[in-house]
Amino acid sequence: MEEEAAGSGENLASHTISESEAATEEDSCQGLWELPVECSVRRRECDRCGRPQKVCLCPFLPVHPLRVSTCLYIIQHPAEESRVLRTVPLLAACLPEDKCKVLIGRRFSEDRYPELASVCRNPNTLILYPGAGAANLEDVDLSSPDPCIIVIIDGTWSQAKDIFFKNSLFRIPKQVQLRTSLSSQYVIRTQPTNACLSTLECAAVALAIMEKNDCIKEIILRPLQALCSFQLQHGAQIHHSKEHLLKNGLYDKPMPKNKRKLRRMELLVNNVKI
Ligand SMILES: [Zn+2]
Repeated sequence: MEEEAAGSGENLASHTISESEAATEEDSCQGLWELPVECSVRRRECDRCGRPQKVCLCPFLPVHPLRVSTCLYIIQHPAEESRVLRTVPLLAACLPEDKCKVLIGRRFSEDRYPELASVCRNPNTLILYPGAGAANLEDVDLSSPDPCIIVIIDGTWSQAKDIFFKNSLFRIPKQVQLRTSLSSQYVIRTQPTNACLSTLECAAVALAIMEKNDCIKEIILRPLQALCSFQLQHGAQIHHSKEHLLKNGLYDKPMPKNKRKLRRMELLVNNVKI
């Protein structure tokens, strides 16, 4: 769950060509058109990790999918799918296909999603969504012999909120949150607070707790660390969380006029959980 104002980070990998550049590119391609190569096709993506082949992250993925009994359901906001730097394909690549299901959309009715409806009604299903009504996952009794299912919403904060509150199905499972102090490693997209984790990080922490195996976390985080260090080596800047920027007097955007937003920022600085 990430903040909307993700900054320029998400555009880093997409090469924007100005008009003049495009013209030069066209000129330099003259004569190439007859060659039996595809000159203007979009960059090929790796089948496994979903990254452009040149920056494939497969060497950082486990050789075999991790053996887990927990099943993940990722509810992905449609805007998240088209982002350049997505973490869900990396997560999916670490897990067996039947243990990581991704559903894309905003509205999930019982009629259109009968499988999801039965998942939500399963007493062993949890939904990861922080809030006053959420139990700490670390404290939840996970001793049931039946495999657990965890639903995670992938989107910005406001997209996740919209999905959670506008779909009654998601309010059936037990609501849980992570107490973990892991600071986001996903430094190239601005997170609203230091404790805000990307979907991949949330899934890594949640799975490690549910499977009672800390190695799972390390293995799932490895491709994200590789992605971040690659992006940083190629000119991306570290995006500190808004919380960090505000606390250190580095926040350079105009303060919001909206009183509610201003209050939220005050709370961030004062370390109040929002
Ligand atoms: Zn790959």
